[in-house]
Amino acid sequence: MKIAKFAYKGVPAWGLVDGPELVLFKGHPLFNNYETTGDRLALKDVQLMPPVLPTTKILCIGKNYQDHADEMGLGTPDEPLIFFKPTSALIGPEEAIVIPSKVTTDVDPEGELVIVIGQLAKNVSEEEAMDYVWGYTIGNDVSARDIQFRDGQWARAKGFDTFCPLGPWIETEFIPDGQILETRVDGEIRQKASNELMLFSVPQIIAHVTAAMTLLPGDVIFTGTPAGVGRIEPGNVVEIEIEGIGVLRNPVS
Ligand code: MG
Repeated sequence: MKIAKFAYKGVPAWGLVDGPELVLFKGHPLFNNYETTGDRLALKDVQLMPPVLPTTKILCIGKNYQDHADEMGLGTPDEPLIFFKPTSALIGPEEAIVIPSKVTTDVDPEGELVIVIGQLAKNVSEEEAMDYVWGYTIGNDVSARDIQFRDGQWARAKGFDTFCPLGPWIETEFIPDGQILETRVDGEIRQKASNELMLFSVPQIIAHVTAAMTLLPGDVIFTGTPAGVGRIEPGNVVEIEIEGIGVLRNPVS
């Protein structure tokens, strides 16, 4: 099942992706047992939004691919490294990533598989972890590299407005099993890696995070990026594709 959020009659709505169409849900699908209104809309006529609730926690795992940790000179983590991105950074498919050129031009995209949580989760074991996953989407952990290293912690470097593209939808049937993630800038492949290369698996990440904090339906966890990050500039178009989910596409301005 592919679940999308979009602007409908000026307000956010949720729909089931059915080929080239969307079937409108009554409110949020998790709160209304996937009840639909029966109304159908053409996918091409709606503006997709990041498929999360506004109160969502956006958690990210750093250094979860050895080759990316190596290219950053960051070493191998002993346990998953957690950081946050602010919800104010969220944008949906086709919205522009804005380079804050008065502050920095040293900006990289990071293509990532993103876990979407489906029920309240606290102190979840690795064995139970997959029961708490609603599905997966695609995220771009856009990062101002100079600020990341200058500040020491990552809140500002990864928290600029528009630095959190998310979508195009939630795929509820995806199971990470070696699918390829590919990041393209103007069609040129920058990152290409299997999710089998993650240092910490989805169950390990969920167990680690929920030992610290309660996760709620709609919370998301970025699972880290593979090697191949590099600068983007106004005029570029970034596409992140994960086999079995889709493509997240954003222009840069
Ligand atoms: Mg990242």
